[in-house]
Amino acid sequence: MDARLILARLRDGATLSEAEITWFADGLASGAVSDAQAGAFAMAAWLNGLGGAGRVALTRAMRDSGRVLSWDMPGPVLDKHSTGGVGDCTSLLLAPALAVCGAYVPMISGRGLGHTGGTLDKLEAIPGLVTEVSEDKLRAMVADMGCAIVSASGDIAPADKRLYAVRDVTGTVESIDLITASILSKKLAAGLEGLVLDVKCGSGAFMKTRETAEALARSLVTTATGAGCSTVALITEMDQPLAPSAGNALEVADCMAVFDGDTQGPLAEVTCALGGELLALGGLAGGAAAGAEMIRGSLANGAAAERFGKMIAALGGPADFVENWQTHLPHAPAVKEVLARDGGHVCAIDTEALGNAVVHLGGGRLVGGARIDPAVGLSRIVRLGDKLAPGDVLLRVHAADAAGAAQAEEAVRSAITLGAAAPLPDLIQKRITV
Ligand code: URA
Repeated sequence: MDARLILARLRDGATLSEAEITWFADGLASGAVSDAQAGAFAMAAWLNGLGGAGRVALTRAMRDSGRVLSWDMPGPVLDKHSTGGVGDCTSLLLAPALAVCGAYVPMISGRGLGHTGGTLDKLEAIPGLVTEVSEDKLRAMVADMGCAIVSASGDIAPADKRLYAVRDVTGTVESIDLITASILSKKLAAGLEGLVLDVKCGSGAFMKTRETAEALARSLVTTATGAGCSTVALITEMDQPLAPSAGNALEVADCMAVFDGDTQGPLAEVTCALGGELLALGGLAGGAAAGAEMIRGSLANGAAAERFGKMIAALGGPADFVENWQTHLPHAPAVKEVLARDGGHVCAIDTEALGNAVVHLGGGRLVGGARIDPAVGLSRIVRLGDKLAPGDVLLRVHAADAAGAAQAEEAVRSAITLGAAAPLPDLIQKRITV
């Protein structure tokens, strides 16, 4: 086959055959397809779609582009994946909490994508920590401590690893076909028995409306269940950052506050809801509500924090991270409060603009492979419904220098609208099953 002909057919709106899609995915993994061709594929698929059968074919082909794991554990092998948001650091809390509750969690995660943050970038804000581990090490960690958050090694879904990096910098993320294939190729290759998907919906999500979020959730649930993995999706609100912060080290600090017992905020709520679904899917809880309380208990009593500390140490981070995280996390040199010019209720937040502000501060990538600055970002971000007076703090910018902070200031101020009180969106909006 010839990549140029496949790309021309996709550009012209033809439906690619399973053989063509499989050939292209194999080429992504082997290097036979160039970055330019991968970018053209992503853009043509974004514009014209792959069709239902094409989406399944790409998922399967990317899953099979590398190793497909299988497990023989004394408990269920479970995982969650988010479609991408801002201030969404639930994975760091959920993996150890699930492990404490008896699940085994080989969490193969991603880096930042577009304006959204990535779990691996957040974890790597911890000094010394390395997320690229061998399969043997992944297996040893899952057997020993019940969880491991790692990057897809060269061996797992290598075709997605390549396409993901290309999509990140080519404006081709927001496609139901490409997101479905990307997420599920990794998750199905991890050999899971149960999966919960956190489908984000709102101004900081790739899917901005309920209709598109539901379409993505149904695509994910149908494709995963069809491939033999029991799957539930929750559509959750992303009209504002989930955590109080957006930025790699800052979000790790937010997680540490939850591990320290602050289990009432939206970050903990979404973590418990997702974990509850998984514990029910894996037969470890009588239902999702009971499962959510088990997750909350493990966060509140310090057991999840202890497990998190073990995982951090096994990945090369400091052995005393849980006890001394404030001293280990990097701090940005320039911190600036952004003040409200007018008063009113926070009635809208352009969360994508906040995510892009973090990327421009250096917390994400503008070109493939760029190094990121783990310390930068936004913290103590106001929430929808908050009532502010002129001069109140909207958020704090953490930047590498004063010029960077000043540049971010205008972008973030115009992302937050103050006005009349408006109804607040539900945090958990819908549950989707097959
Ligand atoms: N997460 C992924 O792994 N892939 C996507 O395309 C979006 C979110």
